[in-house]
Amino acid sequence: MATQRKQTKHAVNKLELPPLVAERITCSLTKWQGEIGRCHWCNEIITGKRRTTWCSDKCGRAWQREHIWRFARSSAKRRAKYHCIRVGCTAARRDCEVNHIEPREGKGYGPGCHHHLQPDATGRGGLEVLCHAHHAEITAAQATARATTRANARLEAQAETETTI
Ligand SMILES: [Zn+2]
Ligand SMILES: [Zn+2]
Ligand SMILES: [Zn+2]
Repeated sequence: MATQRKQTKHAVNKLELPPLVAERITCSLTKWQGEIGRCHWCNEIITGKRRTTWCSDKCGRAWQREHIWRFARSSAKRRAKYHCIRVGCTAARRDCEVNHIEPREGKGYGPGCHHHLQPDATGRGGLEVLCHAHHAEITAAQATARATTRANARLEAQAETETTI
């Protein structure tokens, strides 16, 4: 006997939305407020019959450019005209890599607001283009900073257990 399970078609509250969709509500670039039937980028009412997320391909692409790593990376390079942004850097054109100005902190290369091209109003986030050498320099410095933070956390934990004994 087939049991008919009534499925909730529309997520009504933010918590039921997949994280990536919920993030579009808080994203500083999208105008979407979370309302069903409106474009997740520009918040206009979607009129296209087969469309559910974006009102147009243009809006879908605009979102991709800021949230999907491979698109964000190529727009960052195009914006920098394929040159390292460090003043006086003599690296060849196209010897360029894209760096997250703010370390990704485990967010990885999966889609999300951590790939925004420009830093937000508070100066957080953003992408920059660097040559291989300058990028390596930054990556190494970040690794050192992470190691220092870990070491400090260990020392603090140690100090805490010592005082509680
Ligand atoms: Zn739109
Ligand atoms: Zn975003
Ligand atoms: Zn450089």
